[in-house]
Amino acid sequence: MNSIYDYPLESLESYFEEIGETKYRAKQVFDWLYVKRVKSFGDMTNLKKTLISFLKQKFSFDGLKLVKKEEDTDVKKYLFELFDGNKIETVLMKHDYGNSVCVSSQVGCNMGCGFCESGRLKKVRNLSTFELVLQVLKVEEDIKERISHVVLMGIGEPFDNYDNVIKFIKVINDPKGINIGIRHITISTCGLVPKIREFMNEKSGVNLAISLHAPNDEIRNKIMPVNKVYNINDIISVVRKYVKQTNRRVTFEYILLKDINDSEACAIELSKLLRGINCYVNLIPYNETSHIKYKTSKKVTIDKFYDILKKNDINVTIRREFGSKVSAACGQLRSKTND
Ligand code: SAH
Repeated sequence: MNSIYDYPLESLESYFEEIGETKYRAKQVFDWLYVKRVKSFGDMTNLKKTLISFLKQKFSFDGLKLVKKEEDTDVKKYLFELFDGNKIETVLMKHDYGNSVCVSSQVGCNMGCGFCESGRLKKVRNLSTFELVLQVLKVEEDIKERISHVVLMGIGEPFDNYDNVIKFIKVINDPKGINIGIRHITISTCGLVPKIREFMNEKSGVNLAISLHAPNDEIRNKIMPVNKVYNINDIISVVRKYVKQTNRRVTFEYILLKDINDSEACAIELSKLLRGINCYVNLIPYNETSHIKYKTSKKVTIDKFYDILKKNDINVTIRREFGSKVSAACGQLRSKTND
């Protein structure tokens, strides 16, 4: 059965026209789903009985079952079971500027980054649009507060599930629905260059973050196999075009891994690589996991790295650490329950 959460408003309108209904009815249903948040067609009291029973036969509301929740002061981590028994995780982070949800885009991941827990469990399948939408709805329902920001930085490579991710963004951004501002939505990619190009042409206004994690191919090849397909040069040249065409600043994520990519020489090389690009660098203290050999850089090393970038006029921040107590590093909760 199809899920009713799989449809951006436009698609729902076309569907309603196909079945001899009006666009206006589709708008009413969309409003029930995303503004009034009812969970059955029976509760949509301004619809005709015949339409309600038709829709009941066609569409379901289910799709995510909460199986586990871990909490800390400013972070909550949810493990959800999908209709086919697969599990995914979603993380809520409470910032002073609002509630941000980190959404998974696939069951597992095929990118194989050496430091990442998600990649230990290979991709099983892409998530459907409704499974992405339900992650946001379920977390809002749980915390009874509005979610203001969404980041696609959970399990999976969002650009390896491009179409469903774009549809998801249409649903959550719609002002007649959940209404999450386009500039409050961020897609993070390991650097699938053709998809970055496609994304640039959408002119959506969504923020783009790129997991760079190394200043040169020698290091990046060792930690991110995808670099053998799209190397640093490919990434930098597509980012230059992206910035020019969209007029948007791009974020580079850079995990600091002890003795791998955290030296002063790396910081200098990174500064040179990014010079003149409208971007900022988000330095991420590595979240250690028991299965993986990489270690977190020392605080002094991180600070030194930061200072070098700053001195070279690169916009840089150090990411605040969230939820190391609740195994919030990508894929850890799911990985733990699968062991
Ligand atoms: N596949 C996408 C999005 C998912 S990962 C991407 O590669 O960008 C989201 C971010 O978390 C990426 O920058 C990823 O490299 C980083 N990450 C993965 N494991 C981590 C860990 N153990 N500690 C800190 N960051 C991690």
